[in-house]
Amino acid sequence: MDSITLRRPDDWHLHLRDGAMLAGIAPESARHFGRAIIMPNLVPPVVTGAQAQAYRDRITAALPADSGFTPLMTLYLTEESDPADIIAAHQSGLVTAVKLYPAGATTNSTSGVRDFDKVRPVLEAMAEHGIPLCVHGEVVDSDVDIFDREAVFIDRVLDPIRRRTPGLRVIMEHITTRQGVDYARAGGDDLGATITTHHLVINRNAILVGGIKPHYYCLPVAKREEHRLALRAAATSGDASFFLGTDSAPHTDPLKENACGCAGCFTATNTMSILAEVFEQENALDRLEAFASLNGPAFYRLPANETRVTLTKGDPVSYPAKIDTGDGPVTVFDPMMPLHWRVG
Ligand SMILES: [Zn+2]
Repeated sequence: MDSITLRRPDDWHLHLRDGAMLAGIAPESARHFGRAIIMPNLVPPVVTGAQAQAYRDRITAALPADSGFTPLMTLYLTEESDPADIIAAHQSGLVTAVKLYPAGATTNSTSGVRDFDKVRPVLEAMAEHGIPLCVHGEVVDSDVDIFDREAVFIDRVLDPIRRRTPGLRVIMEHITTRQGVDYARAGGDDLGATITTHHLVINRNAILVGGIKPHYYCLPVAKREEHRLALRAAATSGDASFFLGTDSAPHTDPLKENACGCAGCFTATNTMSILAEVFEQENALDRLEAFASLNGPAFYRLPANETRVTLTKGDPVSYPAKIDTGDGPVTVFDPMMPLHWRVG
């Protein structure tokens, strides 16, 4: 097979940032994707419907004319979130989902949730109204090893929340472990999981072997090879529980190449070429459309995109090493392998 046509893909987990960074990187996602779930972890975070409206307007202004790209907005769940505001923002069509960050788990998450009992009324209201909850699934306890934080979160936080709140629709964002794969697969129709492009490609050696490689550092951090293989098997299985959420998360080079470097890989530019390469390696090109274009909308109860994209195999694809933004250069994720599939 040297050409494959898919429904236009969507990105069910994306960081577009704000200001000059937003202007610089929004076209990278709009080029190939139809829609994206936009993360709300700005400073200050997008907590209210009014803030989501204003942020959506700024995103729309940053998109190329006629891009056809639709940002799907989320609200940042805090211990003070107002259930009535969340429900109104969802019912008006402004907001697609709500994002739960454990306080301190990742970039700009200090306003997140410390005491999960405090958000129980909000979660119950969301279950009642069918509003999906996107979860950053890592505990932040200092006594839990960073490589174990996802598995511990499932046992200590996620499973109890789901048992207490029947009907709550949950997306485990950017799963990175075999335990995450197993829990999502067994979770039934109200549980889905996104998988990033980069976690299909790298294990933790990419960050740590031969010198520290800050551009491969992200959260949740890449794990052992056995976990990468579990993610690849899940993504390429066609199982409707799993869909693409790139977690493409730009930081400028000075913030990555730093004594305390920021977490995030920027994959918006070359994600579709990387995914085609990965799915071809797994003899699963015929299941790329399920992962990138069909399973996500089905979980979110939205129609798949009507337009199509074609990927064609040929000589290695060139893509920029960096995107220049008004904030500074952003390094594009290097998958450490030639990419042969080009979009369009
Ligand atoms: Zn993210």
